[in-house]
Parts: sequence; C-alpha cells; structure tokens
Amino acid sequence: EAGLYIVAGPIGNLGDLTPRAAEVLRLADVIAVEDTRVSARLLRHAGSDRPMVPYHDHSAEGVRARLIERMASESVALLSDAGTPLISDPGYKLVRDARAAGRRITTLPGPSAAIAALTLSGLPTDRFLFMGFLPSKQKARGDALAEIAALRATLVFYESGPRLSESLAAMAEHLGDREAAVSREISKAFEETATGTLSELSARYADAPPKGEIVVIVGPPGEAPPASAEDADAALLEAMERLP
Ligand code: SAM
Repeated sequence: EAGLYIVAGPIGNLGDLTPRAAEVLRLADVIAVEDTRVSARLLRHAGSDRPMVPYHDHSAEGVRARLIERMASESVALLSDAGTPLISDPGYKLVRDARAAGRRITTLPGPSAAIAALTLSGLPTDRFLFMGFLPSKQKARGDALAEIAALRATLVFYESGPRLSESLAAMAEHLGDREAAVSREISKAFEETATGTLSELSARYADAPPKGEIVVIVGPPGEAPPASAEDADAALLEAMERLP
C-alpha cells in the first residue's frame, strides 16, 4: 500500500529487526536511508533487494518533495543507521511534510537505545526527559543542563566515549551529584552498564574512555531526607562533641 513506513532497525543485534519491519524492507518501492553502506548490511540480512535513496532532514528540499510525491502511489520506507528513525536521527521533516500532504503514514516500532538504557538503569522510569546529544561547547552544554536542573524527572542523554567523562563531570556540576547509569554497546557482545554517582562515574572513565555507543541515564534530584526529631538531636550532640 502506498504511503510512508517508519521502520525501526536494530541498535546492534541484527536479530532485533522485527519480522514485520523485515517484510516492509522487502516490499517497499524505495527505502530512504542515512547511509547506503550501513543500511545495505541490514537489507541483506532482511533479504531485501529494494533500492535505497540517501535522505537527511537537511537534504535539498527537492529530495524531500520528490519522496512526498512518490508516497502518493508508492510505498516509501524510512530507515536509520540504528534504532528508531527521528530519535536523534533524520525523519522529522519528512513526516511533517507527509502529514501536511495528507499521505498515509504508519510505523514499524522497534528498538531505541534511549528506552533500552532506561530499562537497564534501575532509576525511576515514571517520568523521563530525552535530551539526545548535549552540545559539545562547554557554555552551551552548561546552559542546557542548567535549564533542566530543577526538573523532577529522570534524564536520558546520548553520548560518545571520548566526551563521556567530561560530560558526566559537567552534569555533576550543573545537576548536582545524582545517581546515574552508563550503558554501552546495548544488545552487542560487550554490553555493559555501570552505575554510581555522576562524579564516581566521571572518575571511572577519566583515564579510560570507553569504546562504542553510550547512553547516560541520570536520576531525578534527590528528596532532602525528612529530618526526624531524633536525627536532629543526634546531629546536634555530635556537633557539640566537636566544639572546643
Ligand atoms: N535512532 C537511534 C535510536 O533510536 O536509539 C539513535 C541514533 S543516534 C545518532 C546514535 C546514538 O544512540 C549513539 O551515539 C549512542 O548514544 C546511542 N546508541 C545507539 N546504539 C546504541 C547501543 N547499542 N548501545 C548504547 N547506545 C547506543
């Protein structure tokens, strides 16, 4: 059927491609991809020989207009290098314009590193904010963190190995030294999740920047523990003992 098919791919393990997504990749008239070499591997795995066209949201307007045009009579699949399209990946403008043109749009849901890392973290999942990649410049990064510091929500960041330790230190500085989890290489051979406070994790990775793809999950700001009368008495006694 004609229209736009948003196809989630694996985030590492090819076995995570859903059967329904594989079927769409085999049947689509054309597949819009970020990088034809990366997607060629997945298409081989899915048994698809369908043609690919490179697509980015900053592609020339003509490229997008042509795809919107084709959706009227053909099936156009949108695929990212990894995970779910539009999540720190191209596609938002394509979906926006397809909607405006009244095209049929459907999604083939599947893996996203953000959700996978959230489930691994052991941190609260009831309220979370996806922040994607932080700006790399120190000032812009600090501003972005300061803006969300008061939010009572778990935070989700995409990160790269070389920047990890520095980013964790900046988070500790601007958000307070909260509990956090660093997940890398999810669904791959060297999957690993490390937990601790932001400053502990920053120290851990300072000398050995980890390889591979990384998600940082940061817990919400801690509640100040309710001061019970006994706690207050104990603290007072202790302080008095230290007085000269
Ligand atoms: N669209 C993708 C998704 O749904 O997760 C994200 C694309 S974004 C350009 C790539 C970033 O996602 C990486 O830099 C890393 O932060 C994260 N990522 C992707 N795959 C991952 C994996 N297997 N383990 C940990 N993080 C991953």
